[in-house]
This record gives sequence, structure tokens and C-alpha cells, in this order.
Amino acid sequence: MQDTRRMKMQGKICLVTGSTSGIGKEIAAGLARMGATVVLVGRSKEKCESAIQDILAGGASADTFSYISADLSSQKSVRQLVREFVSNYDKLHVLVNNAGVFMSRRELTVDGIEYTLAVNHLGPFLLTCLLLDRLNGSAPSRIITTSSVAHRQMKIDFDDLQMKNRKYNGISAYGQSKLANILFTRELARRVQGTGITANCFHPGAVRTGLVRNSVYGLAWKAASLFFISPQKGADTALYLASSSEVEDVSGKYFVKRKQVQASDAAYDDNLAERLWKVSEELTGVALTQ
Ligand code: NAD
Repeated sequence: MQDTRRMKMQGKICLVTGSTSGIGKEIAAGLARMGATVVLVGRSKEKCESAIQDILAGGASADTFSYISADLSSQKSVRQLVREFVSNYDKLHVLVNNAGVFMSRRELTVDGIEYTLAVNHLGPFLLTCLLLDRLNGSAPSRIITTSSVAHRQMKIDFDDLQMKNRKYNGISAYGQSKLANILFTRELARRVQGTGITANCFHPGAVRTGLVRNSVYGLAWKAASLFFISPQKGADTALYLASSSEVEDVSGKYFVKRKQVQASDAAYDDNLAERLWKVSEELTGVALTQ
């Protein structure tokens, strides 16, 4: 059932990563259309400001937007983002972990971590853990993470999580990180159970964005994009998870097209989820006691 009442998010404060382009920009725009105050996160000030201008041109009100520049590949930058957010906002009702990358080549972040793992999993892991107090104090609150159907057929290789010892493969690195998004969501949901915080993730569909544009698969992606859905359609399930009363008590689930869907078998392996959580704590230096 569609739930499209306008202004249903009035009074809600939402933080959306990866919101200067693609699906994230449409999530930010959609939340603003529903009356929320939206804080965009992007690496460059210019891109954040230009995204806000684009969203305003679509009819949203200027006083509902702000942005924080941050690079999710850098743990120092994530910590700075949290400091800036908590010093400006007393509440956080919706956190959307949407930023993501597809990397053709193995690259390391400033922290010396494989880039895909860092941006797609460890960045959102650290950001979420550090914002949990705010989410707790704002409950009912929701955490939404953009995963992908690319998690299927994938595994978490704890012996070589960062692909140091084998030939790097962008598809495997991306798929592993998207499986990590689901395992993280399930373990997080278990840890915050009873607090009024929910955590869910979703696959947006095959969406016409620049995600793979600059990779070795760029040309094939561009050609296939003709058949992909628009970023606005790709944002729909995130907006549903952020706002619908139908999912206010649902947590730890994977959604496609607004429906709870069975993820891969690996995504339901509780030992894997717990082990990933511990490794993520070690790699980010953050510990969550809940
Ligand atoms: P996109 O490239 O338009 O969006 C990715 C966003 O992440 C960009 O705004 C980018 O600036 C941001 N980002 C990348 N690295 C960052 C960093 N180090 N620090 C901060 N921000 C960073 O592509 P998109 O398709 O809109 O991707 C959004 C999410 O959707 C990703 O998590 C992606 O894995 C997921 N997804 C996309 C598709 C698809 O078909 N496009 C399918 C499944 C899942």
C-alpha cells in the first residue's frame, strides 16, 4: 500500500550519506518533500551545495537543508562528521547509510584499509556506532542501509577480508561489502532491540547512476543503464523504510520494492554477523556495549 501523505516527516531530522548524487540525492529530496530536516553528507562542499540547489529546484524548502562535508573512507573524517552533527542537532530520527563505491582496482584508504570495505561497510559501521546515542535519545528512530542484490553468491572471507593475498576482483569486493551491509543490519537490529531503534536494509534495483561509470565496466554499465530504473524510483524503498508506519516495528530485514525479501543464506549466519561485528570494531577502534 502506498503511503504518500505529504509532511509526514515534519519535525524529523535525517542524515543521508552519499546524497550529492544518484539514489542518495533522491532519498534526501524525498525526505524533504515529506517535511523532514535533511542533513546531506558528501565529500565536497561544492557538490553538497549543488545537490541542494538541484533539490530546491524540485520545490523543497531551503530551510530544511544543511550539509556536512565528510569522506567516509577516512575514519578521522567520520569522527569529525559525528562531532559536527551532534554539536548542531539534538536529535537524529533517520540515518541513511547510502554512500557506496565500486572499485575496479585495489586501493587503500588513508587508514590503510581496502577502499571498498572502508567506504561501503566500515564507514557506515563507525558512523552508526558513534551516532547510536543520538538515535537512542530520539527513538523511535530508524537506520537504513543501502545494500544490493550483488550480495548473493558472496561470502565474507575473514582470512583475506581486504584481498591482500589474492588477485583483487572489484565484483567480489563490492559483493562482499554488500553482504556485510546485511550482516551488519541484522546484528545491529539484535543489539538495539527494545531501544526503539530499528535497522533495515534494501536493494534499490538496477538504477541509472554513476556508481560503476568510471570502472572497467563503465561502457557496459552505460549501455545496460538504458534499461535501468531512475534514481527517483531507486530511492522509493528507502523512503518507505524511513517513513511508513507499516514498518515502524520491523527490524533486521532486507527489502526489495518495499517488500521483505529473503537474502542469501550467508546473510542469516549469526556467527558470521557476530564475527564481522568484532572485526569491524577492531578495524575502526569503536566498541559498542549494547
Ligand atoms: P552514486 O555513485 O551516484 O552514489 C554513491 C554516492 O556515494 C555518491 O554521492 C558518492 O559521492 C558517495 N561516496 C562515494 N565514496 C564516498 C566517500 N569516500 N565518502 C563519502 N561519500 C562517498 O551511485 P548510487 O547508485 O546512487 O549508489 C548509492 C548506493 O546504492 C550505493 O551504496 C550502492 O552500492 C547502492 N546500489 C546501487 C545500485 C545501482 O544499480 N545503482 C544497485 C544496488 C545498490
